[in-house]
Amino acid sequence: MVKEIQLRISLKEEERNDILTIKSAHALDIDKEVITGIKILRKSIDARKPKIIFNYKVAVYIREALPKTSEYQFDYKDVSKAKPIHIIGFGPAGMYAALRCIELGYKPIVLERGKNVKDRRRDLKAINQDHFVNNDSNYCFGEGGAGTYSDGKLYTRSLKRGDVRRIFENLVFHGATNQILIDAHPHIGTNKLPKVVQNIRETILNYGGEVHFETRVVDFIIKKNNIQAIQLQNGSEMTVNKVILATGHSARDIFYLLHKKDIALEAKSFAMGVRVEHPQHIIDSIQYHCSGERNALLPAASYSLVNQVNNRGVYSFCMCPGGFIVPAATANGEVVVNGMSPSKRNNLYANSGIVVEINADVDLHKYEKFGVLKGLEYQKNLEKLAFTSGGRSQVAPAQRLTDFVEGKLSNDLNPTSYQPGLKSAPLHSLLPKLIGSRLRKGFLAFGQKMKGYYTAEANIVGVESRTSSPVCIPRNEQLQHPEVSNLFPCGEGGGYAGGIISAAMDGERCAEAAIMNL
Ligand code: FAD
Repeated sequence: MVKEIQLRISLKEEERNDILTIKSAHALDIDKEVITGIKILRKSIDARKPKIIFNYKVAVYIREALPKTSEYQFDYKDVSKAKPIHIIGFGPAGMYAALRCIELGYKPIVLERGKNVKDRRRDLKAINQDHFVNNDSNYCFGEGGAGTYSDGKLYTRSLKRGDVRRIFENLVFHGATNQILIDAHPHIGTNKLPKVVQNIRETILNYGGEVHFETRVVDFIIKKNNIQAIQLQNGSEMTVNKVILATGHSARDIFYLLHKKDIALEAKSFAMGVRVEHPQHIIDSIQYHCSGERNALLPAASYSLVNQVNNRGVYSFCMCPGGFIVPAATANGEVVVNGMSPSKRNNLYANSGIVVEINADVDLHKYEKFGVLKGLEYQKNLEKLAFTSGGRSQVAPAQRLTDFVEGKLSNDLNPTSYQPGLKSAPLHSLLPKLIGSRLRKGFLAFGQKMKGYYTAEANIVGVESRTSSPVCIPRNEQLQHPEVSNLFPCGEGGGYAGGIISAAMDGERCAEAAIMNL
């Protein structure tokens, strides 16, 4: 017999290895000896009150063995001789599109401008140490896309829970910890993601798919509203049947190419701002109501903040407890910051994007001349501004949080996790008013919600500009571009995802749509 129950465990109780068995026996009014196994289905922490509680949902097996198999089976087939589907981009959307093609008996041919995870590492080092950005291999481009050297938080607002579970099970199948199936806020960590991504590539190759690295797509040969061939940066051409375009929100050359070819695009609302960095112990003490170090059983604390300021949302984005701020530019001449953390989240800092919603219809009137690319140009300008004010390298402009709000240049800055280094800059006057003034009010409001958050011990670092795509590549109900019938815009670049899980789910959907259409 199996019974599903909820348990509330205190911090003190959590120290005991057998606590779930004891509590389950008590809750079910049975002898603990008859419990043959306990499967944790969900775990979350409730730290709203000083008495911290671990909430568990468990399946208690009574005189019955725990099942070993996963409920998901991935039925990969040999597709070496099957019909091909071309996938541009090997981020979460492209990877999951390729895996789904294999399940459905089609051969994915993936074209990726960046390098494999191992070689990519050298280029990341060059950004951090030499301030040189390779525009094909960086924190956004390369095997696994922006999802590889990311934070690996796997939250999604998607309501399609069944699909979400499938994506998680597949990550576990490819080497991610099965803890992600349980945690309310699952996280893989930047140190573990490359191996998972590499395993996904190996599955694709083992079943007869193809993955071509250092292969940038530079043009589409279109006849009668169909892509006949794609042109690569080495001058060669590839004849294609169906094309899944999963190039991410940083592939500006793809947006420019589509625009130049008069293929419909739409301007999209997005968000931009800064990254704020606190010592982790400050966030821990606020969230866990403690004064010294947090209890060893508790993970580095996170937060999620949102406030409306002058009709625009100001909110935290991609919060990374125990993490690092990283240089996420995709070209020299721009500074872009983002965040990531290792699986243990044991770094000394907590960082988060704090961004302001930008309404493409009303906020960008000075950029109207750029038409559908107005948001992209606005974003580019802010990144250039960060580059020049940081000192024309990957050094990022920064300010103490309180100085930013009070409108003062910082005489000195707090220590940081951002490897290329920070330079004090008057971000309060440099940022456009649309963003700067809302951020200043937003930070004050956040200080009210989390006492101790508004502190001179935090830095803000500019600029957090790549939160989502400023451009949408339209598609119809069959997920085809309305003007190019064999083009399937996919993932975050198309405007159909925001994060690893939603991009992966969209990849699967696009593969199914492309195949249905064959
Ligand atoms: P991408 O991952 O951007 O992949 C697009 C791929 O297309 C890239 O590999 C690129 O090289 C390739 N490409 C582009 N142009 C071409 C071309 N012309 N020819 C061939 N290939 C091309 N999300 C989360 O959910 N949780 C997190 O914790 C998280 N942390 C992040 C931390 C960092 C530092 C960064 C940068 C991002 C983070 N994200 C996180 C965002 C997440 O990575 C993206 O939402 C996700 O990767 C989008 O997936 P995608 O496949 O649509 O696009």
